Amino acid sequence: MQQIITAKLKLLTTPEQHNALRQTQLAYRDALNYVSAYAYIHGKTSNEKRLREGTYYKIRTQFKLPSEMSNNAIRQVGATYKGLWTKVKKNNEHRRKKITKKRYKGLDKPPKYVSPTITYNYGYDYGFKTQQQISIRTLEKRVVIPYQGYDKHVALIQHDSVIKAARLWYNKQHKQFYLLVTLEINIPDPTPEELPMVVGVDVGQRYLATTATISQQHFFSGKAVRSKADHYTRKQKHLQRKGTRSAIRRLQSLSGRERRFKLDVNHVIAKTIVNENPETLIGLENLSGIRERTRQRQHKGKSKKIRPLTTKQRRANHHRSKWAFAELQRLIIYKAALAGSLAVKVDANYTSQMCPMCGYTDKKNRPNNGLIFICKNTDCLYTQNTGRPYTIHADLVGARNIAMRTLLLRQDWVRTGILSIYPDVSDDEAKAERLKRYSELRWSQAQAHMLMM
Ligand SMILES: [Zn+2]
Repeated sequence: MQQIITAKLKLLTTPEQHNALRQTQLAYRDALNYVSAYAYIHGKTSNEKRLREGTYYKIRTQFKLPSEMSNNAIRQVGATYKGLWTKVKKNNEHRRKKITKKRYKGLDKPPKYVSPTITYNYGYDYGFKTQQQISIRTLEKRVVIPYQGYDKHVALIQHDSVIKAARLWYNKQHKQFYLLVTLEINIPDPTPEELPMVVGVDVGQRYLATTATISQQHFFSGKAVRSKADHYTRKQKHLQRKGTRSAIRRLQSLSGRERRFKLDVNHVIAKTIVNENPETLIGLENLSGIRERTRQRQHKGKSKKIRPLTTKQRRANHHRSKWAFAELQRLIIYKAALAGSLAVKVDANYTSQMCPMCGYTDKKNRPNNGLIFICKNTDCLYTQNTGRPYTIHADLVGARNIAMRTLLLRQDWVRTGILSIYPDVSDDEAKAERLKRYSELRWSQAQAHMLMM
């Protein structure tokens, strides 16, 4: 199994090296903005070949960038424009379908590069020397700089990893350069025997994360961090409206702070989940569509047609920060692999509406969208055996269903020797077989559950 990690290396520069790196960074950023302006007046093109023909010579002579870095800058601008064009097309489509009225303005003026972070290619622009030193390109020449990093990362750089591109990042506050090196490492594929435990991880608004094994659970409250994140968002909107030069500058530092704050919280949650669940197959939701789930519910109507949000709803969404759930999942996947566990994605459909005991799926299982989940199925396995309906904390249903789906995945893995992360549900026969085994599994779980009480 391949794993990508980023090693953060602190560069112990002399004052001359520090200046050389800073000059290189700023020249690179100026070159990016130059290419961006060129692309803009040439039909907002994302075509790298055209950009290279039009700007390469100037980048080399005016900004004095070495050849490989000049090409990187051109590639980077091409990629930016390509991304923006994709957004424009998507926006056009959404406007045609009347999902939004807003016109996407990302290509109204040339995108401006603010961050002076440079990408360096391994072997061309930078490399490692003996005795924990790094050789790196600057405008005039290569410089050799000692570095510090986590022992684990340093060991990986020296052995056992494939070194990829790196980014030169400057911490302005501490006047310190870091090199963020991408490493590819190979971890032996785990077997189901090595991962006897199963846990499901659900993400959401009230709790940033909820984990459930078949018998235990852990809530990671989102209340405190959310209000702080919402505070950032409100402040950002305010500054955006102001739009003055100093407001924009404050906006930049604020967005950096917010990003680091969310990253820190996500790191802690991911670490806790991975540490609390050793030797575990960790089930995560397949998150595509999370934006729909976390935004304010749409206007109720008889037709299923998508309706635009009301002003009030839009305003509520406006001030609500988006939590970086995809980032949280990435961190869990990464930390799990390093700890000898394994995180996989499972189908996320109806995880909050489905009874973990009988599989009955209905919105009404959660009366008034309240805190309690009550299975409304009169034939529920649980009701048949206990005489009362299955009741559970509503925020726990998602995680428990994900745990169940992960358990199913593990059983398939044991049986077939293959871990199919994305089960093929196009085959009807396989689908029916899965459903049957799913209900059998539920049955055994229901029995186990009742034995515990
Ligand atoms: Zn039920």
